[in-house]
Amino acid sequence: MTPICILYTKFLSSQKWSSMARVKKEYTVYLIKVDSLKCNGCAQCAELCPVDVFEIDKEKSLPLRPQNCLGCGTCVAVCENEAIIVTEI
Ligand code: SF4
Ligand code: SF4
Repeated sequence: MTPICILYTKFLSSQKWSSMARVKKEYTVYLIKVDSLKCNGCAQCAELCPVDVFEIDKEKSLPLRPQNCLGCGTCVAVCENEAIIVTEI
């Protein structure tokens, strides 16, 4: 391989890695806990969560789709019983 070929190969290699770095995405994951002793099943969290995390079952809120959570804090703000904790993990 000539020196020019080696340089060109290195150039292509560096381009490949830099374009891979550009498409790398980071995601934040949230843990959602509902204290069933505090929850009265009012369903405010289920109605106002923009990504449908909660289901109400037997007058209790269940965070069945935590993978959808955006961490917006709406559910925590609307819960009058302070039953919801959202933690970034
Ligand atoms: S807003 Fe609070 S009390 Fe109401 S259903 Fe959700 S967790 Fe339960
Ligand atoms: S923090 Fe926002 S997105 Fe996450 S569960 Fe609560 S209301 Fe839904």
